[in-house]
Amino acid sequence: MKTLRNKNKIWLCLALLVSVILFSFLLLQLSGSTKKDDSADTLVLLGNEILAPIVYNENGRTKGIAVDIAEAIGEKIGYKIKVHSLNWDQAQKMVSSGHADGLVHINPDPERRIIYDFSNPLLKSEFSIFTRDDNTSLETLSDLRGKNIGVEASSYPSILVKDYNDIKAIEISDWTRSFEDLASGQLDALIIDRWIGEYELAQSKIQGIRVVEKPIVTQYSAIAVRKGDKEKLDLINDGLEAATKDGTIDRINRKWQGKQVIYITQDYFKNLLLLSAFTFLVLVALVSTILFIRYRSLSKKFKQDVEQRTEELRHANSQLKAANAKLEQISMIDSLTKIRNRRAFDIAYRRAWSLSMREASPLALISIDIDHYKVFNDTYGHLEGDQVLKSVAKTISASIKRPGDLAARYGGEEFLVMLMNTTCKGAEQVAERIRKDIEALEIKNKAMDTVLTVSIGVVSIVPSRKMSPKDLLAIVDKALYKAKEEGRNKVVVCNKIEELIDTDSKEK
Ligand code: GH3
Ligand code: MG
Ligand code: MG
Repeated sequence: MKTLRNKNKIWLCLALLVSVILFSFLLLQLSGSTKKDDSADTLVLLGNEILAPIVYNENGRTKGIAVDIAEAIGEKIGYKIKVHSLNWDQAQKMVSSGHADGLVHINPDPERRIIYDFSNPLLKSEFSIFTRDDNTSLETLSDLRGKNIGVEASSYPSILVKDYNDIKAIEISDWTRSFEDLASGQLDALIIDRWIGEYELAQSKIQGIRVVEKPIVTQYSAIAVRKGDKEKLDLINDGLEAATKDGTIDRINRKWQGKQVIYITQDYFKNLLLLSAFTFLVLVALVSTILFIRYRSLSKKFKQDVEQRTEELRHANSQLKAANAKLEQISMIDSLTKIRNRRAFDIAYRRAWSLSMREASPLALISIDIDHYKVFNDTYGHLEGDQVLKSVAKTISASIKRPGDLAARYGGEEFLVMLMNTTCKGAEQVAERIRKDIEALEIKNKAMDTVLTVSIGVVSIVPSRKMSPKDLLAIVDKALYKAKEEGRNKVVVCNKIEELIDTDSKEK
């Protein structure tokens, strides 16, 4: 038992000895570095080692925005400023004991002002509450009453919570551990500079933690020197002012801004997601609307184009039809006499033949030939002869009145009249009227010592399959020939059709 107690004592002594040696070694190191670097021109500042990205250790080197600023100040005042990062409590003790020139990034408060003098503002600190996502009740400092709150030893928040006796302040020294404790529920909240807390969360990837938007206090950190060390403070302030004025501080801030963490709470993330979805939908709607409007205007234009082309085509078509009709008409009209020509007669005659056959109605033909026309032409010339043809045609046209009747110039000075539903008797009357009307024109045919007359053949039959339209033309021709034979200026009606057909057949 005694041996055991002795052994413990030996271990305790050894541990104390090692601690003393280590602490002395550290002090020697720090004071040594001041000396080595020529103490007259070197300032040693100490920072809190767990304040990434403001002051922190990385691979044995002290880094951070406050370090860069301190070094920039040194450049301005012609000093080499060295920043070492340490346990914050230890760092403060070392400055108080004169083993270092100052503290970098320390927030002034009444208690500290008793021990230190502070430089002009260095960096903005937003001391904020970090709590779990699902804990919505902790928003202000007074909400933390009766709760387990993590604060760093000797830090500004640790001083703040002292005013609230019922806040169970738990001193922490390792941010990762304390955030883990917060996530697991061992701690209700942490109070820490927002930038540092968010940086730690991003580094450690601890989930389920939110930061209360409104900081409990916003402070500006400074460089602190031992109380009364006015000369050093002035020197630091001069450097700080110069570095601010020429934009060095701004440049350093911008460089470290990249290390700032955009803290996204679940709520914010949800809103962001909703906003993105909404923006996306709005964009889709916008693009669809634009496309739809474009499509509508294009299809409207296309429709208009098609309508215009259709209208143009319709117009062209009707013009073509009119032109065709005119052409057709022209091709049916005799150019000299302006009555129907042989082509028009043939078409109408074939149609009338079929119709009369179907209806068993009589179809009459009147064949007219000018008498001694050759002599007239020889006497008065062709131009005068043409005038006579016009007068004769006009007279013939005027003598037919019924809708089914048709008069045509069949060739030279021969004319044909077709009368539908007309018997021999009716046709003979028309023929006689024509003959008289032409005689009544009293066109002199000097050489013959007479007026111009016509000879006319007349025939009417009910068309049947026994004969063809051509046969009837031949019969009426024969009747005309007979009128010529019988002395001209005469109408001959062919009554004995059967006979004529037979004769015709025999001749053939
Ligand atoms: P007929 O009494 O026997 O009929 O005697 P014709 O002189 O009339 O004899 P024919 O029928 O043989 O003569 C027709 C003449 O009509 C011959 C031709 O010179 C003339 N002729 C034919 N067509 C035209 C025309 O378009 N204009 C003129 N001016 N004369 C024409
Ligand atoms: Mg003739
Ligand atoms: Mg004649």
